[in-house]
Amino acid sequence: MLPPEELKLALDIHSRSYKLLRWLGRAIDTGEIPLPRVVSPRHADDVTAATLDWIEPFHVTFPADMRPDEDKLRQFAAFFGTYLTSSFDITNDFGVVLRNQYGGTCSCSICARLVNGSHLKAKKLTSSDKRRSLALMLDRIIELAREHDLKLKTSDAEALIANPEYKIAAAYSTYGYWLIQRTKGVTDGPSILGLWRQFAWTDAGSPRKDFKLDYDDFKKSEDMLLTSIRELAVDHLE
Ligand SMILES: [Zn+2]
Repeated sequence: MLPPEELKLALDIHSRSYKLLRWLGRAIDTGEIPLPRVVSPRHADDVTAATLDWIEPFHVTFPADMRPDEDKLRQFAAFFGTYLTSSFDITNDFGVVLRNQYGGTCSCSICARLVNGSHLKAKKLTSSDKRRSLALMLDRIIELAREHDLKLKTSDAEALIANPEYKIAAAYSTYGYWLIQRTKGVTDGPSILGLWRQFAWTDAGSPRKDFKLDYDDFKKSEDMLLTSIRELAVDHLE
């Protein structure tokens, strides 16, 4: 099962990140948050470091419902960085936007997205992203079994998520696992967005109205999966 404290922290950071991105886009546009003058060479290959350069100096000015805890700045920055790069693209060619408006500013994947925070669009998922989401779900179900000393064949995991209800439960468990990974700066890219859409979007392909990510839904999903995993795993011993 997913560790409750780590999952609750990741959920808290997730809800703050969502609000903060919108707030930052406006604050940067109005000059409330100044653009960094210095291009940092470490940004190119360290998403967390790049994000921290935006969070650390300004977090005290963020509104309370989106401000990270002082002692969790690194986890927050790690998560926020993966949120930006896994979920969003910039509507314009960001290189051009940056040069025209803010010549000289860093054009790494984080700075480019934050400076253009009010021009971001949700990523479009490719069929390979969607296949990858399914593969992550199968990995998670097999791992959930292993956590309880049970062995589950890939074919049984596949049969389980062929049922739509279990597929949603698997998406929750897998998304929860990756929420925690992202507080450590580890992500799998747009496939994570594919997991989110399994439960937060309708079958017709639009966001569910008033959807809220809730800890209890993760717990219920893993309990439900585990009940079936136990049955499937026992079957193989007979
Ligand atoms: Zn940068």
